[in-house]
Amino acid sequence: MSSDVRNVIIIGSGPSGYTAAVYAARANLNPLVFEGSVTAGGALMNTTEVENFPGFRDGIMGPALMDEMRAQAERFGAELISDDVIEVDLKASPKVVKTADGEFLARAVILATGSGYRKLGLPGEEELSGRGVSWCATCDGFFFREQNIAVVGGGDSAVEEATFLTRFGSKVTLIHRRDELRASAIMAERAMADPKLEIAWNSEVASINGTDSLESLTLRDTVTGEERQLEATGLFIAVGHDPRSELLAGQVDLDENGYVLVEHPSTQTNLEGVFAAGDLVDHHYRQAITAAGTGCSAALDAERYIADLD
Ligand code: FAD
Repeated sequence: MSSDVRNVIIIGSGPSGYTAAVYAARANLNPLVFEGSVTAGGALMNTTEVENFPGFRDGIMGPALMDEMRAQAERFGAELISDDVIEVDLKASPKVVKTADGEFLARAVILATGSGYRKLGLPGEEELSGRGVSWCATCDGFFFREQNIAVVGGGDSAVEEATFLTRFGSKVTLIHRRDELRASAIMAERAMADPKLEIAWNSEVASINGTDSLESLTLRDTVTGEERQLEATGLFIAVGHDPRSELLAGQVDLDENGYVLVEHPSTQTNLEGVFAAGDLVDHHYRQAITAAGTGCSAALDAERYIADLD
């Protein structure tokens, strides 16, 4: 086991982890960042154009934005390791973070492992991600002006996304497996009254079709099994998302859906010296800029915590 005790270990390499790394490095805390093995860079590595991250008037490709954040953290001396954290002991002092290769110790830990959008698990879904298939209406709705848009899901967020997307699309079809919506009554009523919004009841997506970009969907009737084509150039998948908090069960307090609980407006968890930021905490805004913002807060909270220990 390494005898070095770090000031700060950051787990996660999306906008929240890298922003925390920039701030912690510039505060001379020599942060060590575990980026993850296959998903280093976080959710934006899977998208194309990002048009709503301030500072890029012409937009920037998701992977390019994440490369910039990574390089900025490295420039100030953050140490980056592209490995997965497989176990933590956050109640110990110092705190213990384990990878397959060893154990690392730190006075403070910032948790920034994000959340994952649930997928439909259909062929074409990954390939056409960022080419018509999206998980975020706020991020991508603007790209689908005057086009046929489909939304799949039936809960509050699906209905909210579908209603929001009527601002852009010429027509929005909400695809729902049952014959009534799970969304709250008021939201469902608003959706059903919207002239631009059509609901495909008792329907599921059977296939996502297109070569370079989305062209159509094959829908299957969940009662009769009959299939039909729906022309659409945008598909928004709104079937939920899961925080990546498996590592933390039994350590930090989580809400009933597995999101880390913090003492808002700070990033302090129930454990001293453990801070959490980004989509791992936030199931409401889920944007790169809000993740970066709370990553900054987490580094400042860690810096103050360490200063108080000295
Ligand atoms: P993430 O970006 O999810 O990063 C967390 C990372 O932590 C993981 O990817 C992984 O690298 C690492 N990690 C996880 N577990 C471990 C572990 N055990 N050990 C080590 N590392 C680990 N937002 C916008 O503002 N604008 C957009 O245009 C936009 N487009 C999007 C397009 C797509 C396809 C998707 C999926 C999301 C989009 N978003 C967009 C949302 C945005 O990407 C997220 O809100 C943001 O990335 C959240 O940042 P985060 O740092 O909290 O988590």
